[in-house]
Parts: sequence; structure tokens; C-alpha cells
Amino acid sequence: HAKQSGRARYSYFTAVMSERADQRLRLEGELRAAVADGGLFLVYQPKMRLPGRELSGMEALVRWRHADGHVVPPSDFIPVAEETGLVLAIDEWVLREACRQNRAWIDAGLPSVPVAVNLSLARFDPERIVGGIARALSDTGLAPWLLEVELTESQMLGHSERATQLIEGIRRLGVRVSVDDFGTGYSSLGYLTRHRFDAIKIDRSFVHGLPHATGQRAVVQAILGMAQALDYRVVGEGVETEEQATALLELGCHEMQGYLLGRPLPASEMERLLRTMKS
Ligand code: C2E
Ligand code: MG
Ligand code: MG
Ligand code: MG
Repeated sequence: HAKQSGRARYSYFTAVMSERADQRLRLEGELRAAVADGGLFLVYQPKMRLPGRELSGMEALVRWRHADGHVVPPSDFIPVAEETGLVLAIDEWVLREACRQNRAWIDAGLPSVPVAVNLSLARFDPERIVGGIARALSDTGLAPWLLEVELTESQMLGHSERATQLIEGIRRLGVRVSVDDFGTGYSSLGYLTRHRFDAIKIDRSFVHGLPHATGQRAVVQAILGMAQALDYRVVGEGVETEEQATALLELGCHEMQGYLLGRPLPASEMERLLRTMKS
């Protein structure tokens, strides 16, 4: 029954997003209020190193607890937030909260594990973003190497100069930058040499076909070949089966993330996972 009401909720939000302007406006208003009133929260998904599967990082993913109690996934509100510009405030909150939480865990004696945040590049201003990251770090006292920023490949397309400014600005702070959903955008060698990244995350649509789908396997192999030549760390996303994990290991992937290794966890459960680690 819970699953059914979940379905109904998703279609409600999807309908709201694609339907009438007044409903759209209401969603925007509710989201704006949520950003201002503590209606957002973060879940954390583990990233693990191959072959030993030690925890190598975690990704902070935003959720919206709607006033009616339902939890709304980012795919249902980030697109609206990008159109309205509200995404700037959301990403800024996520950045600060992820830094604050990570610093709090370290202060509590838990192992230092880098946290990654996703940044939307809808109408981005490199100086504003870099300034925001610098402030989040200094206000929370989190060391820059414990923060990573994920930028999607497709959003960097067509903004070559501003993207370079942004990536260089972030890396100058000592914060790592990775390309998210790699393989779904432009994915040329030229693109990877024009900007300097720390890691590439292979989109889960390619990982999905491992080990047998020859096309997807060839794409994963090609990405790993490019990454190796350029000395980039590669993370396989959306790993759901042991077969996929084994294939990624055999193909030379460095890290992986996916339901097989761990679902996105509320902060309290991520804290429990950190406690089980030796520091
Ligand atoms: P992403 O950054 O590529 O994050 C990975 C998404 O895949 C997450 O969905 C995660 O829950 C899901 N996932 C992880 N492992 C598996 C798996 O094994 N199988 C499958 N089927 N899915 C898996 P989520 O949390 O719904 O986030 C969706 C997207 O929303 C993210 O994709 C990211 O682009 C965006 N997003 C999330 N948080 C933020 C945020 O704070 N700011 C911005 N701008 N975007 C965000
Ligand atoms: Mg991501
Ligand atoms: Mg991704
Ligand atoms: Mg994505």
C-alpha cells in the first residue's frame, strides 16, 4: 500500500510540473518555502574503492520533505528549481549542510571521508559559485580536500569558457571536481583535455548493460581508456549486481557506487556506517 501511495505522489508532482501555470506557481511557492523553512534534507550514498570495497567517499543527495509529509525526489523539483533560479539557493544550502555535517562527524572522532555535492549549472556564475564554496568551507571549518563537486557533462557543454573558469576556480580552492553522468553528453577526448578534472563518473545507463551488452561494454572500455591516458579516477555509477561490479573491476574501474554497495542513507545511518570503520 505504501508503494502505491508513493506512485500516486510521483505522478501528482509530475502532473503539477507539466500542467497548468497556477499549479506550477504553487509548486514553486511551496519549494521556496521549503528552502527557507528547513524543508530540505540530505541523504548520503557511499562510494567504494575497488577491489576491496573500502568506503572512499559519499555523495550528498537532496530530498524535500513536503508539508503533507511525503518525501519528494530531486528529479521532481530540481528541473522546476532550475527554471526559476531557485536551484542556486538549494545548491547553496546543500553545500553548506554537507560541509557542516561532514565537519561534525570529524569533530565527533569519526573517520575523514570526502563528501560530494551536485551543482546545477543552470545560468551559472563561476565567481558566485566559487565564492560560495570558499565561504561554506571557511564557515564550517571543513578541509577542502574533504569536499568534491560533481558537475554533469551535459550542463558544461556550450559554456566552455565559463566552465573552465568554474573548474579552475574550484580546484584552486583545493576542492575536487568530477564529471557526473559521463557518456551522456559530448564525451570527447578534446573536452576532457580542455578542462582538468579529478574524476569521471560513468553514467549508470552504461554500467547497466555490463557484463554482456557489447555496446555498453565498449563505451565503458573506451571511457576507461581515455581516463587512464589522462590520469583520471573513474567511478562506475548505478552498480546494482555483483556481475556489474566484477565487470567494472576487470575493466580497470577505480571506484563504484550503487544500490549493491549501499542506498542513499539518512545522516544517522551514514553516521552508523562511519562508526564501523577504523579511523
Ligand atoms: P546523480 O548525481 O547522478 O545521482 C545519482 C542518482 O542515482 C541518485 O538519485 C541515486 O539515488 C541514484 N542511484 C544510485 N545508485 C543507484 C543504483 O544502483 N540504481 C539506480 N537505479 N539508481 C541509483 P537521486 O538522489 O534521485 O538524484 C537524482 C539526480 O538529482 C542526481 O543524479 C543529481 O543530478 C540531482 N541531484 C541530487 N541532489 C542534488 C542537489 O543537491 N543539487 C542538484 N543541483 N542536483 C541534485
Ligand atoms: Mg552526482
Ligand atoms: Mg550521476
Ligand atoms: Mg544525474
